Amino acid sequence: MLNEKIALHTPGPTPIPPQVSAAMTQPMINHRGEGFSRLYRDITAKLQTVFQTKEQVYVLAGSGSAGWETAMVNFVPAGAKVLNIVIGDFGERWVKANRALGYQVERLDYAIGTASRPEDVDTFLSKQEGAIQAVCLQHNETSTGVSNPVHEIAQVVAKHGALVLVDAVSSLGALPLPMDEWGLDVVFTGSQKALMCPPGLMMIAASQKAWARAEKANAPRFFFDLKGHRDGFAKGQTPQTPAISLLYGLQAALQMVLEEGIEQGQERHRLMGEMARAGAQATGLELLCQDEGFASNTVTAVKIPQGVEASTFRKAAQKSFGVVLAGGQGKIMKDMIFRIGHMGYVTPNDVLVALAAVENSLALLGYPVQVGNAVAAAQRVWLLQVSANK
Ligand SMILES: *Cc1c(COP(=O)(O)O)cnc(C)c1O
Repeated sequence: MLNEKIALHTPGPTPIPPQVSAAMTQPMINHRGEGFSRLYRDITAKLQTVFQTKEQVYVLAGSGSAGWETAMVNFVPAGAKVLNIVIGDFGERWVKANRALGYQVERLDYAIGTASRPEDVDTFLSKQEGAIQAVCLQHNETSTGVSNPVHEIAQVVAKHGALVLVDAVSSLGALPLPMDEWGLDVVFTGSQKALMCPPGLMMIAASQKAWARAEKANAPRFFFDLKGHRDGFAKGQTPQTPAISLLYGLQAALQMVLEEGIEQGQERHRLMGEMARAGAQATGLELLCQDEGFASNTVTAVKIPQGVEASTFRKAAQKSFGVVLAGGQGKIMKDMIFRIGHMGYVTPNDVLVALAAVENSLALLGYPVQVGNAVAAAQRVWLLQVSANK
């Protein structure tokens, strides 16, 4: 295999467009100069459109996990009681982060492959009688390929007076998440998922309600303190040295996101999600998420069929058929599923390639599949969509 042509279908990092790579080769500039201010202002204006918010969006150096810490220490008082909704491994990691930061964590757990239910959150918060100060959840649980009903949950949380903090690392820019319209208090994402950039940047925005509480949020913080970002913004500056090259990349990526159009991009992801699911099912595989209404359109988790060994299967897909798939995260899911990422700089054609590799790898390992079924099913979904829009 020509290594450079290997198709990356992990749900982060995701492939990056040549425009983004090229943008990152620009010469270094003074981060206290006019050039940087222009760059930063342009990026944050574009981010407001992508976040669908009139609030300021801040960009920090760090991977997506920095979002958990930043959201907590800036908007939730030290030691406060919070509710973590856990539907998979990233939910679990946020619990770990909150415990490490000294918060009292209550949790609502759901079976792997399912989404959380607003009525459960309502019942839980009613019993807590106002003791919960923030509700933390993933918009899209990347480890299971399930999206949470964030809008409905946000309405419930608002009724009980708590803040709703949303990890949109594997959804923002790909799945609908209008921050202001849905009344979300804190939304954050990372650069290496749907936003088509290398890892290394975290972007975060907060509502007026959240900022009002920030006054009382006394958790110890330094690097992740957003006040410095807020104060520096007027001058077009960041408190520390920003990741300038990554910001050039982000600027180019956001330009592409806006040129495609937010809704058109979401439409593309919806189509790719449908294609991936139709393809996997057509070849006789079972999806981890059984409820089409909550199936993720950025990543599809598929159960490894009996008799197939998970890592052997993924190795075959990469070594023999040039496609990098992701395994399962965490102990339970490790050998149970594989995942096809289809977010960011990915097109329906790429999904066909991924599905062909899935089928070929299964066939190579002696699993009985009719080669071509997955691709044919996905192809039909695509054709139907294009015909309907004609
Ligand atoms: C990728 C991801 C993160 C962040 O992971 P990092 O490795 O820190 O970038 C957080 N939440 C979700 C849902 C993710 O998919």
